[in-house]
Amino acid sequence: MNSSPDFVCDVCVAGKGLLGSAAARHLAEMGLNVLLLGPDEPSVRSEHFGVFGSHYDSGRVTRIIDTDLYCARIAEASIARYSDLEESSGINFFESVGHLAISPVKGYISDITNTARRLGVDFKSLTDDELVNAFPYFSFDDGVSGVYEHSTGGYVNPRNLIKAQSEMVLNAESEILAEAVSTIEKCGDFFEVFTESGKKVRANEVLVASGVFSERLIQGSQKLDLEICESTVVLAELREEDVIGLGEMPSVIFRHESEVEKGVYLLPPIRYPDRKTYIKIGHSESRPMSDPATNLVKWFQGDGDQVIADWLQSQLFSLLPNTSFANIKTESCAVSRSSTGRQFIDVIDESGIHVLLAGNGYSAKSSDELGRIAAHKIISGEVPDEYSDIDFELKYKRK
Ligand SMILES: Cc1cc2nc3c(=O)[nH]c(=O)nc-3n(C[C@H](O)[C@H](O)[C@H](O)COP(=O)(O)OP(=O)(O)OC[C@H]3O[C@@H](n4cnc5c(N)ncnc54)[C@H](O)[C@@H]3O)c2cc1C
Repeated sequence: MNSSPDFVCDVCVAGKGLLGSAAARHLAEMGLNVLLLGPDEPSVRSEHFGVFGSHYDSGRVTRIIDTDLYCARIAEASIARYSDLEESSGINFFESVGHLAISPVKGYISDITNTARRLGVDFKSLTDDELVNAFPYFSFDDGVSGVYEHSTGGYVNPRNLIKAQSEMVLNAESEILAEAVSTIEKCGDFFEVFTESGKKVRANEVLVASGVFSERLIQGSQKLDLEICESTVVLAELREEDVIGLGEMPSVIFRHESEVEKGVYLLPPIRYPDRKTYIKIGHSESRPMSDPATNLVKWFQGDGDQVIADWLQSQLFSLLPNTSFANIKTESCAVSRSSTGRQFIDVIDESGIHVLLAGNGYSAKSSDELGRIAAHKIISGEVPDEYSDIDFELKYKRK
């Protein structure tokens, strides 16, 4: 029996995360009627057996400076729109506390400064002595130099960024439903999307932006060339009296010499929803997960990898030797990485489903521009001209 749909829309976006909410907002503001579908954050992770997002956090490093010009460009375009988005949504998500990139690897630092110069970023190069004077609470080895990005660097609160995008989706008279998608079916020239509670959506186009769970929704005959990787983070709780001394701390990326443990990133003191203030540290290089179809939910339910957590803790103590912490806890997260290092912003030939995939571990800060690129592609069939040199094409694993 063909029941009538519960929702009818131009585009149904599956995934109310950083990329999906941004794409939905741009689509809605470009005049399309959008339904943004995706579950809210689970209240107890260890007891949740559904899908998860990689945005259940209060701080993501934000910076333009990068060794990769494309990454710097999409970050720059996104950051340039932060204040408008904050103002029009009434939700603040960006803290411009500055960003510091440090490394003993000279080539890394010079690649960053070259990119920053090309884009006209407001930055300052710092020698090891200058680093000690500017950031007295940090301890770095001799021979480490740094690049400090002023006003455009800092961090975003990913939960608030999604709230801001969602607010704009609603302002543009589109709709949001807090439910996971269970199946997507092509029916002639439209799609039928079914939610987990059995609601039916009829949509002209579908965009899958479901993060590390996306492959569940686009089961085609070929596997996407996408790796799901494990991330562990350490959250170190500060005592209230220690927060003030670190008040000026920027977000940090410390690139090591070792290619294996490429380095760490650090978030400054941030007050979390439990009303405690934490410094967060995570690793830049993440290990591919074996058999994500079986292990991904279990991974998100757990506290990450204890060996990596111990290493992160030792890195934190060595970077901030004079800071004591009231408590340390660990969390798990996951990222998806494409074989190209670029996002997949494309249409699947077989099904006609659009995709916006592969955050590659750096897409929170750049999500707004990535959402705009995907919206443009859905509407016009092409990515914006300024990105015509970038390979966003979906790649498949060799059989
Ligand atoms: C530990 C960690 C640290 C990071 N640090 C940084 C950083 O410092 N700076 C930075 O820029 N980036 C950072 N990132 C990367 C950034 O968080 C990701 O690139 C970004 O979250 C990717 O956005 P997304 O929308 O693809 O996925 P997500 O943000 O995970 O959103 C996907 C959404 O889809 C939903 N979903 C899943 N399945 C379904 C379904 N069947 N139906 C409907 N909805 C579904 C999920 O619930 C989720 O809400 C970090 C990532 C991790 C894990």
